[in-house]
Amino acid sequence: MKYDAIVIGGGSAGYVAGSVLSRNGRKVLVIEKDRYGGVCVRSGCVPSIFLYDVSFSLARLREIGNYKGLSLNVEQGDIFSVRNNIIDYLSEAGKKLIENAGGETYFGEAKLSKDKVEVDGRELEYDNLIIASGSSPSLPRISGVENGITEDQAVNLNFVPKEMVVVGGGFAGVEIAQFYARLGSSVVLITRGKMLENFSQDARELVRESLDWDGIIVKEKCEPVYQDRGLLKTTCGEFRGEVIVYATGRRPNFPLGLSNLGIEFNCNGIKVDDTMRTTNPKVWAIGDVVDKSRKVAHSAMMEGYVAALSILGKSVKADYSAVPQVIYTDPQIGSVGSEQRAVKSSSFPLRASTRAIIHGMKEGYVKVGFDEDNRVCFGEVVSQYAEEMINLLSIAIKAKMKAEDLALLPLVHPSTSEGISNAAKALFNLDVDVFKDKQ
Ligand SMILES: Cc1cc2nc3c(=O)[nH]c(=O)nc-3n(C[C@H](O)[C@H](O)[C@H](O)COP(=O)(O)OP(=O)(O)OC[C@H]3O[C@@H](n4cnc5c(N)ncnc54)[C@H](O)[C@@H]3O)c2cc1C
Repeated sequence: MKYDAIVIGGGSAGYVAGSVLSRNGRKVLVIEKDRYGGVCVRSGCVPSIFLYDVSFSLARLREIGNYKGLSLNVEQGDIFSVRNNIIDYLSEAGKKLIENAGGETYFGEAKLSKDKVEVDGRELEYDNLIIASGSSPSLPRISGVENGITEDQAVNLNFVPKEMVVVGGGFAGVEIAQFYARLGSSVVLITRGKMLENFSQDARELVRESLDWDGIIVKEKCEPVYQDRGLLKTTCGEFRGEVIVYATGRRPNFPLGLSNLGIEFNCNGIKVDDTMRTTNPKVWAIGDVVDKSRKVAHSAMMEGYVAALSILGKSVKADYSAVPQVIYTDPQIGSVGSEQRAVKSSSFPLRASTRAIIHGMKEGYVKVGFDEDNRVCFGEVVSQYAEEMINLLSIAIKAKMKAEDLALLPLVHPSTSEGISNAAKALFNLDVDVFKDKQ
């Protein structure tokens, strides 16, 4: 059997590429060894943000009397079944969307020979092969690590542990620590360097205050030494956990036989050009399996579109200049663009935002960076709404928007995202809602 394109992996990257090619009349097969939807649906974004939403609502409802004058008593119901139903729905939808577009799907593990894909003893030929096999958790090499669980397993627990130790201060570790703490776990978070070290000091401090408020013990510059069942020995003491979670990074999933293809790859992933083509002209790679820095679902999807459109003969390129990232903590941190390119920046504190005052949630800020031509090149938002607001800054960067145009853009009043144009106003001393320090 010969296909115009075989896609290995039905996750965020693979289902996009498979669907676009199928919609355009190509004969496509998407092979998935586990469940469609990949990590994002079954053990990443979806369960993680669901538990964030639940814990955020619980925290707000419990304290609502403080800022809205209401009195409520909230009990936790069967949140884990609701989470599982959402995962099942989205995973099934991923498979059906490929089929609806005209593509074929197949459950099995794909293996590679020089110019064929083998699955369950069948040998398949292709004009184009798209590798979208994603990534898996990478665990520290310490004794007893097998008694812990990975970040992917942590977001799929069906109970709230009494005590939890989380190893890893990246986005997954911090999110897991906060939502389980809010659901009732006593949590210790240990991290080798600084927590969320790719984010600014201001953002880290606000999240740190929030973790302190939730009673999470954070130990920085601390590494695990060994695990003895529920006890974790570290360089900064011993900690006991009903569950010990390792959120210690990820490694690419290389399909068996990858080296038969004669393509370049290293321990961070497969090398591609800006159309997602590998060094073998018939082979493309997209998503977490690619050798790149920011591995998130929306860049995996962008790469799926770019690879599929390139195969269809269109002239498109992957552009990473405006790929945002959001940490789903309370408050959320959103960041986009390059701070190194910014020659100046200005910011707006949300305590001066009318909408934030009405909400009663005044922590956070918007910061915007501008390049030497006065165009937006960087954004950072710390807010309950960072996930939505950072998208506006992504559009501003892509559109190379000028500082003065952003400053005079009349965004809805009173809205939290108004803070974005107010941050640009601050560059021109037009941020009239902010009290200035008198000399
Ligand atoms: C806890 C956590 C939270 C996250 N939260 C976010 C978030 O909020 N926002 C965000 O943008 N990103 C988030 N991510 C990252 C996001 O999940 C990944 O960037 C995204 O899933 C990558 O998509 P992908 O298609 O490249 O790979 P994957 O989603 O890993 O999909 C690859 C698929 O390929 C299959 N496969 C692998 N090898 C083979 C083979 N040989 N044959 C057949 N099938 C194979 C796998 O089973 C898998 O289903 C999170 C990740 C984690 C772990």
